[in-house]
Amino acid sequence: MAETKLKRLAAALRAFPARPGTQFMEVCGTHTVAIRRAGIHKLLPDGVKLVSGPGCPVCVSPDRLIDEAAALARQGVVITSFGDMLRVPGSRTSLDRERAAGADVRAVYSPLDALAVAAATGKETVFLAVGFETTAPAIAAAALKARERKIANFSLLTALRLVPPALKALISSNIELAGFLLPGHVSAIIGKPAYEFLAARGLPGVIAGFDPEAILTSLLLLLEMHEKGVRRIVNNYPGVVRDEGNERSRAVLAEVFAPADAEWRGLGVIPRSGLELRPAYAGLDARRRFRIVTEEAPPRRGCRCGDVLRGRIDPPACPLFNKACRPDSPVGPCMVSAEGSCSAWVLYE
Ligand code: SF4
Repeated sequence: MAETKLKRLAAALRAFPARPGTQFMEVCGTHTVAIRRAGIHKLLPDGVKLVSGPGCPVCVSPDRLIDEAAALARQGVVITSFGDMLRVPGSRTSLDRERAAGADVRAVYSPLDALAVAAATGKETVFLAVGFETTAPAIAAAALKARERKIANFSLLTALRLVPPALKALISSNIELAGFLLPGHVSAIIGKPAYEFLAARGLPGVIAGFDPEAILTSLLLLLEMHEKGVRRIVNNYPGVVRDEGNERSRAVLAEVFAPADAEWRGLGVIPRSGLELRPAYAGLDARRRFRIVTEEAPPRRGCRCGDVLRGRIDPPACPLFNKACRPDSPVGPCMVSAEGSCSAWVLYE
């Protein structure tokens, strides 16, 4: 029964009478992987293309973050991070390499695990706070917990990013987009109103779930809106996303973090697109707590991850794709992360 419905949706998508030259963007790395894994990109009507956006947190973090973490690791600080970040190359090294050279670098599943490392070891412990609105509330909760439990040897090296300012920057650039497949998990926190600026700029958006049926129905909704000239944001993931988002998570976030200008790989510095610790939590800021000296990072030669993240090229257009840069020997972050476009193209094409 479910298979029949999927086939019907796939046939409807394939046969949709779309205008040639229509380009949508899927913002979220989890969508990128789900679309590639299910082969949904091959079901798009002729002339319609889906490009990937800046929705992989590992990919958009600048090289300097890894350089800073490596510099701290060399000072004897315990570095804790989600596993993906350990393989990301900085300008000269990666955290995996620093670990192999004897640094105390540990992969953790959550910021609370990092706090537990700090409590158990008594050593200065830094958590690499990377992610979007989805992971940021858990990191804010860990900061509150550190303060409540008076764990004074725990701090955060932050590179948290906010999705709506990045979308604003994208639609103000010269990439031609007809609409967005919007990220389900981020939307569960920020809600539908956070995207109304897209509709105001004449672009439809659909908040989508991650299984093939959810993605197919969301793409059909996008195509229909585009063809009819309807410019709205539709919540097509109502089982998980409330239109108003999650006020409680946003309140925890706002207690600990404030918006700040932030650098994105490929997009440069975007106003108020990152989160930094509020003055009341400055004691948890690793950049204030330690003297971190990094050398100016040379540009990464040959890697076009920045263009991939802006939807300007598909990964195979990078000269290193699946040659010098492969999932087992990545040159750029888009090949490291499980949510990176380059790794998704290699794994599922
Ligand atoms: S294939 Fe590798 S080198 Fe090329 S853009 Fe992707 S991550 Fe960068």
